[in-house]
Amino acid sequence: MQQVIERWNAAIAEVLARVDATLADATAGSQPVITRIESDLTPLIQPWGAVEHQMHQYREQVADAWRGISDELSGVSDLPDGALWQEGGKRDWATSEIEIRYTRAYRLAVAAASDVLRQRAVAADARSRRCGQCGAQLDRIRLSGLALNVECGYCRAVNTIEPGLALRAFAAVGAMALAERQALDQWEAMTRAHGRIRRYRERTDVPLELLRGYERTGRDYWTTRAGAEADFAPEQRPFVEQRVESSMKGVHKTLRQYWQWRQAAGG
Ligand SMILES: [Zn+2]
Repeated sequence: MQQVIERWNAAIAEVLARVDATLADATAGSQPVITRIESDLTPLIQPWGAVEHQMHQYREQVADAWRGISDELSGVSDLPDGALWQEGGKRDWATSEIEIRYTRAYRLAVAAASDVLRQRAVAADARSRRCGQCGAQLDRIRLSGLALNVECGYCRAVNTIEPGLALRAFAAVGAMALAERQALDQWEAMTRAHGRIRRYRERTDVPLELLRGYERTGRDYWTTRAGAEADFAPEQRPFVEQRVESSMKGVHKTLRQYWQWRQAAGG
């Protein structure tokens, strides 16, 4: 039995290595596209559709490998109770791992392109304004860390730009991408917390602490993301709380499927 499990582990590691190689290629291939991005993200997003398809193939490869391994394991005469379930859990883990790695690479690429869009939009909207300190036209600027702040290229004073047409167009396309990048770690924590919950055979066996962890990481993700998006699109600021609550509906819907959660929440 041990040999079968070792082959199973090796098969998973091999697929994940291919996933990493494909994503590294796609990331490198995106760089020249990103520098040429004009006003929309389609030229970048389109090739990533093919990468996503490739990820689907990798998930299939994991499923195929598991079909062979589970057949072999079923033939083992002294198979310990729960061994098949435990090994099958690795398939779910690997599937989720592929999703996490793909999402991270894709979101980083889209956010890098959105940086270019933002740079152009800020420059376009700043050009017609004057520096609050030296009075020069803001035709020479440097982006500062904060969303709508720019440094005057003449005196280095920080000016806050009122969003004009270009920044409004950017907010519709790129603000979400930058917010997703900012919340990438939180997204991963939420996704992993959800995965840990689903790995139980019986819902009633899931410890309440794990369910609370999913709620916490989910709220953390949606709060970070909505807050970051409002930094880039200030007109969304008044709706941040409302958006977090509405995004949490999906998390709570999942949690309510668990008796122990409903009981702890008082119904
Ligand atoms: Zn100045």
